[in-house]
Amino acid sequence: MSNSTENKHVAVFAFPFGTHTVPLLNLVLKLSQAAPNCSFSFIGTEKSNAIHFPKPHIPINIKPYCISDGIPEGHPLANHPIEKLNFFLRTGHENLHKGIQMAEEETKQKVTCVISDAFVSSSLVVAQKLNVPWIAFWPPMSCTLSLYFYIDLIREQFLNSAGNAAFDFLPGLPNMRVEDMPQDLLFFGEKETIFSKTLVSLGKVLPQAKVVVMNFFEELDPPLFVQDMRSKLQSLLYIVPVRFPILSVADSTGCLSWLDMQGSRSVAYVSFGTVVTPPPHEIVAVAEALEESELPFLWSLKENVLGFLPTGFLERTSMSGRIVYWAPQTQVLAHDSVGVFVTHCGSNSVTESLSSGVPMICRPFFGDQGVAARVIQDLWEIGVIIEGRVFTKDGLLKSLKMIMVQEEGKKIRDNALKLKKTVEDAARPAGKSAHDLKTLLEVISSS
Ligand code: UDP
Repeated sequence: MSNSTENKHVAVFAFPFGTHTVPLLNLVLKLSQAAPNCSFSFIGTEKSNAIHFPKPHIPINIKPYCISDGIPEGHPLANHPIEKLNFFLRTGHENLHKGIQMAEEETKQKVTCVISDAFVSSSLVVAQKLNVPWIAFWPPMSCTLSLYFYIDLIREQFLNSAGNAAFDFLPGLPNMRVEDMPQDLLFFGEKETIFSKTLVSLGKVLPQAKVVVMNFFEELDPPLFVQDMRSKLQSLLYIVPVRFPILSVADSTGCLSWLDMQGSRSVAYVSFGTVVTPPPHEIVAVAEALEESELPFLWSLKENVLGFLPTGFLERTSMSGRIVYWAPQTQVLAHDSVGVFVTHCGSNSVTESLSSGVPMICRPFFGDQGVAARVIQDLWEIGVIIEGRVFTKDGLLKSLKMIMVQEEGKKIRDNALKLKKTVEDAARPAGKSAHDLKTLLEVISSS
């Protein structure tokens, strides 16, 4: 394989926000190992590239290039997460093309293939201009891909549905509700942003990709969903998420040694990822529920919100609980003492939890998190959505007891362990994913 990818030059476009770059870089690391003679130019913004480059585990055939983030000089960013995304997307394919020029000038190699985060959809124009294959990578929750092909029906449901009725027109995904959908898809007229328009266009854009690559396990997606997507796309490949140590996995906060002292499956681990901060009243509710549950807990909580915790909480729970500003999450979830994950359902967190067989209590906030929560509860049955979709002391206590203690939670606990096994099998060298990786390398080598 390495010979056939010799002299190939893949330009990789990152969506440089949140944790989107992490699975993309993981894929590129995997490809670069399989094709050491192929060059990969990883094109992101200065801010996003600074997080990952240089790092000792990045091989020399992956080089970073920085393009503009589109934020006008001196512009004070409003405290709104979507603003940065809109500035970046507004720079369009011209900005992306500058990344190609830099990469070609430095490597003296013409780009032969483009791999792009699907959200950077204007990279399709770049690939078309270069006359090279466009490969789209899908980092969000895999089955949310379906939404972009059924937007008209989803919007109709949104406008017409009385209350929060379940709908079943998404193949393989019954029982979805409007409240599970990413809000950006429901923006009309003046509320539309470049980001929401980009998302809405994906159903038309993605069929133009030579390949769409899922960052997931085909074995866990509903067959009807996979079949439907395959009928709409040129090619759909599943490459199992790999875990190179891209985000910090150092146990600087001593979580693992603390977990070593706890009983098997006894600890509640709480984390809301890198972007979400629940409102103060929900932080209070989580703290009160953890305290009253008397379960040992490990909570990854940003330092700037510690002040919202109830007075005396830290002192009262110092024997049973631990709050850290960052936890080595993959190792925490893989630790035998963790019995439940209270999560915002970010796609990386969900993958990490199910890979470790840990049931989830879901409090989705935005984007793909609502669909993820629904799938966790209703399709895989490895967790529950928090009552009312908002943390209250009673709601969280009820879910904690159900999953950790009660007989009712046994099915969920057992299912989580079964899924862990499925995931382990999917990652086998002879599994479907290994075959799909080979197919992807063939596309790169024949470009
Ligand atoms: N993470 C971590 N330690 C923490 C909090 C988060 O290692 O204390 C990692 C977690 O393992 C996951 C990522 O940060 O890989 C969060 O990604 P996810 O998609 O779950 O959520 P996002 O941050 O994108 O909302």
